[in-house]
Amino acid sequence: MKTPAYAAFSPKTPLAPHTIERREPGPHEVLIDILYCGVCHTDIHLARDEWGGSVFPMVPGHEIVGLVAKVGPQVKKWSVGDVVGVGCFVDSCRECAPCRDGEEQYCEKGMVLTYNSCEKDGKTPTYGGYSTRITVDENYVLRIPPGMPLERTAPLLCAGITTYSPLRHFGVRPGDRVGVVGLGGLGHMGVKIAKAMGARVTVLSHSPGKRDEALRLGADDFVATVEADAFRRNAKRFDFLLDTVSAKHDYNEYLGLLRHDGTMVLVGIPEPTALSAGSLVMQRRRLAGSLIGGIRETQEMLDFCAEHKVYSDVEVIPIGKINEAYDRVVRSDVRYRFVIDIASLKQS
Ligand code: NAP
Ligand code: ZN
Repeated sequence: MKTPAYAAFSPKTPLAPHTIERREPGPHEVLIDILYCGVCHTDIHLARDEWGGSVFPMVPGHEIVGLVAKVGPQVKKWSVGDVVGVGCFVDSCRECAPCRDGEEQYCEKGMVLTYNSCEKDGKTPTYGGYSTRITVDENYVLRIPPGMPLERTAPLLCAGITTYSPLRHFGVRPGDRVGVVGLGGLGHMGVKIAKAMGARVTVLSHSPGKRDEALRLGADDFVATVEADAFRRNAKRFDFLLDTVSAKHDYNEYLGLLRHDGTMVLVGIPEPTALSAGSLVMQRRRLAGSLIGGIRETQEMLDFCAEHKVYSDVEVIPIGKINEAYDRVVRSDVRYRFVIDIASLKQS
């Protein structure tokens, strides 16, 4: 099926219209008509080949919400018209220990990413949600609970689960002092989800102008990290830090904000920086990382967000504004997630 899309053709050129081929759903697959797709900073890192190894042409997009348009003959879980989501991966080996534990994101053979990856045949490229439809195995599709505003739900498929998973895994509890570093797409979801879990949340931002909005989003406090004494004043203050920053910064400074036995989890993936052993050793601090979340936990997160009415704050754009949106994300000028209205792609 010929499918309209937007693609990056090289790291240095703007995204432009493209046509891709989508397959008819196989026995266990569904075809989804895409309604909305969020714009993650990872789309930009990959489209601009900032991590190396990007494959072009690339159709980014892994925060997908749409309607089931067709189901394969053996599909059990879905019917035409169901409101569904697709996140960062569309398949995995299903046999290794992480897959069996429902943590497909850590698949030992490597998950099939929604884009910039290959299907399990090892040669068919995957294309993401900057397109009008996608064909996906029924086991890698999420149910969107009724009543959720769909454009505000799309970002949960990556930004939501990436922040929910470490907050759960590392056992953040009501009353814990949580710091969210960086108030962008991931960060603003981290604030909302940590608050819904009962934590006391502080935003640590290099943009002093975000103070009022951080408080509006539900944060209890705000630290402008550019202020000269910010790190000294807040030393040993937090039980848990969630670092969502996309650009290079000094982890050692932030580790100093953790109390004795505190944990800092990296979810942002910037260029590397040096780590000093003393930053960890002195207070028995922990530094960890976390990658999105598995299918089961992503469903749990969607149900949690529906129950607590936690949605992303979004700016909906037509696909023609995507290059401008990328530049604004890089300038930290996004409030707080761009979401593409895929109807604009059908018309373009
Ligand atoms: P984003 O919307 O651009 O947010 C990143 C935030 O980092 C910015 O809003 C800004 O917040 C802060 N920041 C940017 N430049 C900075 C600088 N020079 N110094 C200090 N802070 C700076 O990006 P996102 O979509 O949330 O993604 C964030 C990172 O997470 C990206 O690296 C992305 O690839 C990664 N990611 C990881 C996973 C995973 O599974 N681990 C999943 C999705 C994305 P302030 O203005 O408040 O400082
Ligand atoms: Zn993402």
